[in-house]
Amino acid sequence: MRKDGFNRRTILTGTTALGAAGLLPRRVLAQSATPAPQAAGTLPARGEFVVRGAHVLSMDDKIGDLPQGDVHVRDGAIVAVAASVNAPGAQIIDGKGMICMPGFVETHWHHWTSFLRPLMRQDDPKKTYFPVTFKCGIHYTPDDSYQSVRLGVSQALSAGITNTHNWAHNVRSPAHADAEMRAMHDVGIRGRFAYGCALGLSNDKPMDLADLARAKKQWVGKDGMLTLGICSRNVDGSLGGTRGAINVAMVKKEWGTARDLGLPITLHTSGKGAIKTLDGAGLLGSDLILVHPLGLSAEDIAALAKHGVRYSSSPVGEARRSGQMQIAELLQADVRLSLSVDHTTTYDCDFFNSMRFLYTINKHRMGKKFNITMRRVVQLATMDGARDLGMDDRIGSLTPGKRADLILIRTTDDNMSPIGDPYDALVQLAQPNNVDTVVVDGRILRRGGKFTALDYDLVIRQAADTLAALKVRAKWP
Ligand SMILES: [Zn+2]
Repeated sequence: MRKDGFNRRTILTGTTALGAAGLLPRRVLAQSATPAPQAAGTLPARGEFVVRGAHVLSMDDKIGDLPQGDVHVRDGAIVAVAASVNAPGAQIIDGKGMICMPGFVETHWHHWTSFLRPLMRQDDPKKTYFPVTFKCGIHYTPDDSYQSVRLGVSQALSAGITNTHNWAHNVRSPAHADAEMRAMHDVGIRGRFAYGCALGLSNDKPMDLADLARAKKQWVGKDGMLTLGICSRNVDGSLGGTRGAINVAMVKKEWGTARDLGLPITLHTSGKGAIKTLDGAGLLGSDLILVHPLGLSAEDIAALAKHGVRYSSSPVGEARRSGQMQIAELLQADVRLSLSVDHTTTYDCDFFNSMRFLYTINKHRMGKKFNITMRRVVQLATMDGARDLGMDDRIGSLTPGKRADLILIRTTDDNMSPIGDPYDALVQLAQPNNVDTVVVDGRILRRGGKFTALDYDLVIRQAADTLAALKVRAKWP
């Protein structure tokens, strides 16, 4: 048995063996400095394997937790979760010393901004998120979108996030939309693409509504890896009009088209105003995910609960904003909540940290009145995200019949060992570098803390090269 906990019978035996087997994409292996889209169809194959002897946190209420359990996966689906699974012929992954749980389900992330990180400085007002993204965003080519999203979703996988909600509020053309979705597809993450308008579009002009049906037909396949929705500009000046501020008539036009196509909607909103406006116009619904629940009135919260509206909280970013996080009030009112990253230009995509922030900030505000179990926090980061994205019949828990999106987390690392309650360890102690193995739809995308097929160094290099060209076009100092 190797030190990393995997024996020789595992399906994928590392990058070298994959390359030798001809399974690695040539374009990914290529060392060319020329930015080139990674070829499609180059992901590791789905196979049959069983994780043995892990501490299984199924997040399925019927199955519960198994201090020592097995998870059997075949052809991308979870076949069985039990204390002991008979799976002759399946490859073995030794789960001893690891937590096996569903991958994190993230519900709001502007991946198109990911590669702008080197331009940002949190302590220089001219180089914070909004000035940088506005100045550079209007110069994006489709390849910029591709490279940035590919970097972002790769980092998501590194952190154990197997599903992301790609909040694309800078779709400058159908080709930009395609580039973002192709990046998600190529890296192998599961997610929703929230189609938005081009940054800087006049508030009296609609987004490219004609392209929504085309994008849905082209990208939303039966494999369930990609789903589609829209991201709306802000409503009635909420959030000070950043990223546009459209009136109710435009909201009805855009949202109406989306709803006619069966596409869900997402919107930034904090503070009083927008929710009341939307409620008054009859626009709230369970197909709506709002982002950043801060400074809500009691009436807002009641309206959200009444209409089944979901809220995505990005605790790390929200901790820097004015307005109180009201997680306790929202949960008490039975408003549906999930967790998100927002962006990775001045934050990280450490979902353990997101859980920790959510707990800590709300505990700081409310003390003993914030009574939440660590399991409930992990549920927000997994099953509740799946539910809010309408994916809970496919992902979010380790349940036979669901797709196999799972992660293994080492509990033997210095920061985790000796481990007590696993949920407490996940929320209070864990870090992305404890994530050993990442499986999406039965494909083992990361193992031993490394990508099995993706050449991540190349992803970074191509992103840097593409950003250098963008800086010239944007006349960035
Ligand atoms: Zn956002």
